[in-house]
Amino acid sequence: MALLITDECINCDVCEPECPNQAIYMGKEIYEIDPQRCTECVGHFDEPQCVQVCPVSCIPLNPDFIETRETLWQKYQRLQAEQPGAVVPALPAGPRIL
Ligand code: SF4
Ligand code: SF4
Repeated sequence: MALLITDECINCDVCEPECPNQAIYMGKEIYEIDPQRCTECVGHFDEPQCVQVCPVSCIPLNPDFIETRETLWQKYQRLQAEQPGAVVPALPAGPRIL
């Protein structure tokens, strides 16, 4: 799944620069997450970086974007392919996380 930011967000600006996919942006009133760019940090980190830094814990999973780890990895590969000269690694072997 992608993640989402709830209206408990206090606009502290901490999460936006931590996102490796540039998925977080300032919305009309609070920060928002583009589900087309959020990979739950798959491909970059073991844990969602925005969740790690949010001081008010207002970044849950987005139930409207249920995705398997493979789907998240494919999203990561797509995002990487958008960057000129990027080398996209293959999905590493390991247990399937659904
Ligand atoms: S989980 Fe990772 S990719 Fe998704 S918004 Fe948070 S920092 Fe960005
Ligand atoms: S870290 Fe949390 S409170 Fe701060 S801007 Fe991001 S979502 Fe909002």
